[in-house]
Amino acid sequence: MAPPPNSISSRHVAVIGAGAAGLVAARELCREGHTVTVFERQKQVGGLWVYTPNVETDLLSIDPDRNIVHSSVYQSLRTNLPRECMGYCEFPFVTRPDDDSRDPRRYPDHREVMMYLQDFAKEFKIDEMIRFQTEVVRVEPAAENSLKWIVQSKSSRGVFGKDIFDAVVVCNGHFTEPRLAHIPGIDTWPGKQIHSHNYRVPDPFKDQVVVVIGNQSSGRDISKDIATLAKEVHIAAKSLMQKKESADAYKKESSRYSNIHIHQTIDRAYEDGSVVFQDGEAVFADAIVHCTGYKYRFPFLETNDYVTVEDNRVGTLYKHVFPPALAPGLSFIGLPSMALQFFMFEIQSKWVASVLSGRIKLPSEDKMMEDVTAFYAKLKSLGIPKRFTHFLTDPQFTPMFKKLKPHEASLISQYEYFNWVSEQCGCSSIGPWRVEQYNIAIKKNDDTYRDDECDDDDQLLEEAYRDFAKFKP
Ligand code: FAD
Repeated sequence: MAPPPNSISSRHVAVIGAGAAGLVAARELCREGHTVTVFERQKQVGGLWVYTPNVETDLLSIDPDRNIVHSSVYQSLRTNLPRECMGYCEFPFVTRPDDDSRDPRRYPDHREVMMYLQDFAKEFKIDEMIRFQTEVVRVEPAAENSLKWIVQSKSSRGVFGKDIFDAVVVCNGHFTEPRLAHIPGIDTWPGKQIHSHNYRVPDPFKDQVVVVIGNQSSGRDISKDIATLAKEVHIAAKSLMQKKESADAYKKESSRYSNIHIHQTIDRAYEDGSVVFQDGEAVFADAIVHCTGYKYRFPFLETNDYVTVEDNRVGTLYKHVFPPALAPGLSFIGLPSMALQFFMFEIQSKWVASVLSGRIKLPSEDKMMEDVTAFYAKLKSLGIPKRFTHFLTDPQFTPMFKKLKPHEASLISQYEYFNWVSEQCGCSSIGPWRVEQYNIAIKKNDDTYRDDECDDDDQLLEEAYRDFAKFKP
C-alpha cells in the first residue's frame, strides 16, 4: 500500500462501533494515513451479525431502563443478497473451502457474515485498534473553534475514559431502537407483543394465533419461521394488499404454508383479544409481532442541536454523511438503508478518510447547506415523508416510488448516490455485475430464492470473480 503523500494531513480519529461500517471506516482511515481508535461496546467485532439468544427485558423495547441487546438477528437468518454482491469491494465475500466450519452457500447464514467480518478485521489488523467492551457515552466539540472532539467512554468494568480526537466517525448502527406500529385499542388488548428486534426462534409461538405486522425482509422471514410452529399467522401489510398482483404473488410465495393469511393493516385491537383488519376480517390473536423497522439514535452525541433526529431524519447532513456546520470533524457512515450496505460503507469511508486528510475538499458550509435544503425541499414537493430521507433504493422495485419520473427518482436512487460518492473520492464506481446481481436477488424475493440454483447469473458470477482477482489482499 503506497503511503500518502507528505502534503496530506494525518489525523487522530475515533470510530464508534466495530460493525461492518466501523471496520471498513477504520481500514480506509488507516490507509489514508490517519491514526485510529475504534470504540466497541461488545466483546467482539461484527455488530448486528453477532447473534445472541438473549433478548431485552422489555420485548417492545420501550422501557428506558431495559437491558439493551444490540443484535436483531434471529436464529434462522440467512442473507437476503448473494454473498458476492453483499461483501466489500476490496475484500470479496468468497467461500472458504479450506475451513469446514464455514457456510459455503451463496446466501449464507448470519454466522458466516460474522466470520467474514472477523476475517476482514484480522487481515487489516483492525482488532489492534479496537477498545472492546468500551461504550462511548458522550461526544462533543472540545471548545468553540478548537476543531477537536472530546470522546467520553465507559468500560464494562466501569472505568471512565476521556480522549481528545481531531475527528469522530459515527458507525453505531441503526437496527437496535425499534419503531412500533400505532394500533388503536392496543393498551387494553390482552395479548403478547414483541418487536422483531427481540425475535429469535418460533418456539414461544407454538400453536398460537399470531399477527405479524410488516412484510419487508424481516417480516417475510419471521412470518414463515413462526408459521412452522404456530396455529395461524396473519400478516398485516398495507403494501401487500394495495395491488392485487402483490397479494397474489405473496399468496403464491407463501403457498407452502397453509396457515399464513394476508390482510390489510390493523384497524383496531379489542379488550376481548380480537384484532380487526382494515379489510373487515377479524381474528382472536395470542400475539402481535411488530416487524416495523427501526429508528436512528445517537444517545452519546452532544452537538448543541446541530445534529437532530426528527421523524427519523438525521439532520442536517450533506449527502447523508457530513453535518455542514461540524464537517469534517464529525461524520456518519451507513445511515442510508435499503442500499447495498457494505459497498456503500466502503465508499463513504473512502470519502471521509480523504476529506479528513485534505486530499479532497468539501464545498463551503453554505454550499453544503444549500444542497441539503434543496434536497429536503425536493423530497417534500414529491410528497416523500421525512422518515424516508435516508431511504436509498432502486426505485423500480419500490412500489411507493414507481410513479416518480426518472429525474425525480434519481433523488433516492442508490446507484446515483454510489456514482456520486465514488466520483468524489476518485474510486471506481459500482460494477455492473453487482448492480445486476442485486436486481435479480430483489426480483426473485420469493420463498425459495436463497436455494435456487441461480443458473441465470453464471455470467455475472464470472464477472464478479474477475473483479475479485484485482483485490486479492
Ligand atoms: P452494526 O452492525 O449494528 O454495528 C454497530 C456497532 O456499533 C455494534 O457493534 C455496536 O455494539 C457498536 N456500538 C453502538 N453504540 C455504541 C457506543 N455508544 N459505543 C461503542 N460501540 C457502540 N445487509 C445486507 O447487506 N445483507 C443482509 O442480508 C442483511 N440482513 C439484515 C438483517 C437484519 C435483521 C438487519 C436488522 C439488517 C440486515 N442488513 C443486511 C443490514 C445491516 O445494516 C448491515 O448488514 C450492516 O451489518 C450494519 O452494519 P453497521 O456497522 O452499520 O451496524
